[in-house]
Amino acid sequence: MSKYEVVIGLEVHVQLNTKTKIFCNCPTSFGDEPNTNTCPTCLGLPGALPVMNKEAVKKAVMFGKAVNAKINKISTFERKNYFYPDLPKGYQISQFVVPIVENGEIFLDNGKKIGITRAHLEEDAGKNIHEGDVSKVDLNRAGTPLLEIVSEPDMRSSDEAIEYLKKLHAIVRYLGISDANMQEGSFRCDANVSVRPKGQKEFGTRVEIKNLNSFRFIKQAIEYEIERHIEAYEYDEYEDEVVQETRLFDTKSGETKSMRGKEESADYRYFPDPDLLPLEVPDEFFDIEIPELPHEKKQRYMEEYKLKEYDAGVLTSEPELAKFFEKMIELGVEPNAANRWLAIELLGRLNKAGISIENSPVSAQKLALIAIREKEAVISGAGGKKVLDLLMEEDIEVDEAIEKLGLKQVSDEGAIEKIVDEVLSANEDKVAEYKAGKEKLFGFFVGQVMKASKGKANPQIVNKILKEKLS
Ligand code: ADP
Ligand code: MG
Ligand code: ZN
Repeated sequence: MSKYEVVIGLEVHVQLNTKTKIFCNCPTSFGDEPNTNTCPTCLGLPGALPVMNKEAVKKAVMFGKAVNAKINKISTFERKNYFYPDLPKGYQISQFVVPIVENGEIFLDNGKKIGITRAHLEEDAGKNIHEGDVSKVDLNRAGTPLLEIVSEPDMRSSDEAIEYLKKLHAIVRYLGISDANMQEGSFRCDANVSVRPKGQKEFGTRVEIKNLNSFRFIKQAIEYEIERHIEAYEYDEYEDEVVQETRLFDTKSGETKSMRGKEESADYRYFPDPDLLPLEVPDEFFDIEIPELPHEKKQRYMEEYKLKEYDAGVLTSEPELAKFFEKMIELGVEPNAANRWLAIELLGRLNKAGISIENSPVSAQKLALIAIREKEAVISGAGGKKVLDLLMEEDIEVDEAIEKLGLKQVSDEGAIEKIVDEVLSANEDKVAEYKAGKEKLFGFFVGQVMKASKGKANPQIVNKILKEKLS
């Protein structure tokens, strides 16, 4: 491995969440009856004309701002010609000569910059469905707006590729320009991978692995490909084995397989789409305010809430998580407690159950109340965890759960003092030893009092009273 250097560049297709398609008024909803969301334009019928969707333009501009890119006032649409059953026009309308967004950047946690070459608007194709001997075409997706985000070949490991992708994913979700649901295909990635001997100036031959739709598969596919290239070098078979081509990742075997030779852009016979004038971004779009971005929020959490970098990173990794956290703060929970209850306790339970934060059975209000009851010493930390366990299962109120589980701590000083007195008089010998200097017996007394109270005495008050009595 150390003899070689990996080079990765990623192309990401993000489905923009506009209500209607990019060049017609058909809805973009997912999962409807096949071929119901279609019209002459997205069916590619002769004479039908495309009309640009302004919302899609706006969302592309927002993305450009978020990655500090150049937004082109004028950009152009070209036809990318190829033949495939899910592409009824025989061409895809895309941006080739001048994309709407150019020259952006995303920074990894270690400060390394990953360049974004361009981001351009285009229409999605339909879907081919193969069932045994029969193949069907569903054109509901045809004409859905896509933003294709092309990175520079700046990544040097699968880990860097995944980190870049996660940052990109978070940015898109924070901006609210796509649901970026990977399973449904609204955030899909083509990974370009090459390997070169260390010190070699030119890049190695790149292969493109198409349509990867989970972070795990992307990592597996890239790592498989790296291995394949290195092996080819080692066996002196590089020229034969590694050719510029498109490959598919088989999720079952964990291998990539050749799909087709790589087309050059000349194969697509790009030419300007005569049905669409060059796109002129409206002036007011240049002044659009974009929401606080993940890295800005992370920085703010570290400064304002004094959270550790790691914790701030977790909490800001998804907009819903950050929203949940901020709600808890708003309700008066201290940042560190909110972090502990949310990032460790709740997320731990949600991950185990395979539930996302959006679908958490425990609301921010309820989790905040657990933290508050802990702070008030109504319950102990351990008690709070039991309450949370119950709330994961049952839709009840926090105080009800505390009651039901019998977790209310005794904070009444008189009651605790009584128990302390009993414990001390039952252990007069130990009290004498303690007073003679055996200070570590203090823990023994605390334990006895807790035991006598069946674990319900407020430990802080127990400590305080014991100290008074023993000094
Ligand atoms: P195409 O549509 O032909 O795939 P693009 O320009 O859209 O071309 O995308 C090319 C992608 O491949 C970019 O992300 C670029 O960074 C990446 N890339 C180019 N050369 C290499 C290479 N030698 N190794 C890895 N990635 C590369
Ligand atoms: Mg490509
Ligand atoms: Zn349509």
